[in-house]
Amino acid sequence: MMSAMPNETIKCDIAVIGAGPAGYSAAVYAVRAGFSVALWMGPEPGGQLTTTNEVENFIGFPEGILGPELMERSKKQAERLGAKLISGSVTKIVKNENGFALESDSQPGQARAVIVATGAVAKWLGIPSEQKLKGRGISGCATCDGFFFRGKKVAVIGAGDVAMEDAETMSKFAESVTVLVRKPESGVRASRAMFERAKNNPKITFMFSTEVDEFLGDQKLSGIRAKNNVTGESTEIAVEGAFIAIGHRPNTEPFRDLIECDEEGYIKAQGTKTNVEGIFAAGDVADRVYRQAITSAGTGCMAALDAKKYLESKA
Ligand code: NDP
Repeated sequence: MMSAMPNETIKCDIAVIGAGPAGYSAAVYAVRAGFSVALWMGPEPGGQLTTTNEVENFIGFPEGILGPELMERSKKQAERLGAKLISGSVTKIVKNENGFALESDSQPGQARAVIVATGAVAKWLGIPSEQKLKGRGISGCATCDGFFFRGKKVAVIGAGDVAMEDAETMSKFAESVTVLVRKPESGVRASRAMFERAKNNPKITFMFSTEVDEFLGDQKLSGIRAKNNVTGESTEIAVEGAFIAIGHRPNTEPFRDLIECDEEGYIKAQGTKTNVEGIFAAGDVADRVYRQAITSAGTGCMAALDAKKYLESKA
C-alpha cells in the first residue's frame, strides 16, 4: 500500500482508477511495460467479485476460486510487480498541460494517461430480506451462479434483455423458471425477439404486474412472497434461487463532465479509447453486454497496451 504523506500528489505515468479485474489487469500490463503506475482502489476494492461466492468460469482455476480471493490475488500480483495501490477514490479528473490531475478523497494524483476501470454496480430491489439472502440463493448474475441451481426451481426478477437472457440461461439448469415482471405484459422492456423466445420456452413462466414483497427463508432462500399490483392478490412462490436482473449502474458520476457517456452513464469507448485523448476505459464501466471478470481483465490489458502506444507517441 502507498505510504506517501496525506495530500502529497502521486506522480505517475499511468493512473488506474478502480480495483476490479479490469483495473488490476491494466496495472499489471502497464507496470510490466515499464511505466510507473498508481491505482486508486475506490470505495469497494475488488468490486462486484467481492459479493460473488465461487467463481468457476475464470480460466486457470480448475477447482474454482472464491471471488474475493481472486481479487486479493490480483491485488498482490499488481503490487508485487510494482503498482502503487492507493486507498480512496478519485473524485474528479482535470486535463492539464502535463496530462491529467486527479482529485481524490485521499491522495491526489498527476498522470500522463488514465485508465478508468471503476466498474458498475448491479441494481438491487433494496428490501431487507434481499440483503439477508444475497449469496444464499439470491444472485445478481445467472451466468456466474446459474450452475449451482441445477434441477431447482428459480425466479428471475426484471423484464429487460438481461432478464430474458437469465431466464434462458437458467432454463438449461433449473427445473422451472418464473419471471416476475412488475409491469403488465405490454410493458416488457426486452426486445420482442428475446421476449418471444423466452415465452416459447416450456420451462419459463411469466407473472406480470407482479412485485416482490419479501424473500422467504432463514439461512437459504426458500420462496418469494409476491403481490399482483393490479388485483392486490398475494402469492407465495417456492424457489431456491432468485436472479435480480433489473439493470446495472456504471460508476461514472465523477467523470461525466469530461468523458463522454451514454444516456445510462456507460462510457462511450471505441475499443478502450474515450473521447478524451489519453483517457482509456476498461471493464464494466464501458460494457453493458458481457460484464464478466474475464472480459474485464481482457479489456484492462487492452487499455494498458493502448495507453502504452499513446504515451510512446507523445515521447
Ligand atoms: P434494462 O434497463 O433494459 O431493464 C431493466 C428491467 O428491470 C426493466 O424491465 C425494468 O422494469 C426492471 N426493473 C427496474 N427496477 C425494477 C424494480 N425495482 N423491480 C422490478 N423490476 C425492475 O436493463 P438490462 O440489464 O436488462 O439491460 C441493459 C442493457 O443491455 C439494455 O440496453 C439491453 O438492451 C442491453 N442488452 C442487450 C442484449 C442483447 O441484445 N443480446 C443482452 C443483454 C443486455 P420497468 O420497465 O418497469 O422499469
